Amino acid sequence: MRKKIVAGNWKMHKTLPEAIELVSELKNKLQNFQPACDVIIFPPFVNLESVSELLKDSPIHLGAQNMHFEESGAFTGEISADMLKSVGAEFVIIGHSERRHIFNEPDEWINEKVKRALKKGLKPILCIGEKLEEREEGLTEKVLRRQVIEGLKGISSEAIKNIVIAYEPVWAIGTGKTAAPQEADSAHAFVRAIITELYDSDVAQSLTIQYGGSVKPNNAKDLLSQPNIDGALVGGACLKADSFIEIIKSA
Ligand code: PEP
Repeated sequence: MRKKIVAGNWKMHKTLPEAIELVSELKNKLQNFQPACDVIIFPPFVNLESVSELLKDSPIHLGAQNMHFEESGAFTGEISADMLKSVGAEFVIIGHSERRHIFNEPDEWINEKVKRALKKGLKPILCIGEKLEEREEGLTEKVLRRQVIEGLKGISSEAIKNIVIAYEPVWAIGTGKTAAPQEADSAHAFVRAIITELYDSDVAQSLTIQYGGSVKPNNAKDLLSQPNIDGALVGGACLKADSFIEIIKSA
């Protein structure tokens, strides 16, 4: 039985006072409610330490939105895995489509980041997903296969237990368009089949595969009730406590 994970990617939103306000509201509103899923929030780097303090007596987990693949060095503006660990992050999003397509991160970097995160004891959420034009050209499975194989290169079947995959069709991110639940479920089943080929069916069956792309309170239940959808990676709807909590309750 895979436990669902509902994660909120704040992206480049929330100043420190706004972050404190949102986390305080989340904590208060979740106080008398024991979520059946794991909940993770991904604030911007500068808010991690303060949010970590606030989360000390809370079941909400903390993650970062990105990291560099090198251990340390002359990489102005970058953040290392050790830095993230030192301020309380447990998870890190790697290969988000905005990193892949706005900042041109190639599969090789993404794979290096996954390996570095694991080595440092951070749990990566590896994001994969096809662009609209790739989908229209019938290339969805080819793209997903490449992103999974390249992203997981050199990762053992033991280490993969600490990885989560997020299937996020790029055309559904921040657009209000969601993949139909069955459509998303078959993409997840396809990813699970690739994992079976690369590892084995035990590994594939225990792997958590989240869906991301305009998940909102009104569509979360349908998506999260699909057999291969093990949670949600939420962007826009995690910026308000009430909508994020509605999605958590759906899970
Ligand atoms: C995301 O940022 O990963 C995402 C899915 O965003 P949204 O929910 O806004 O589409």
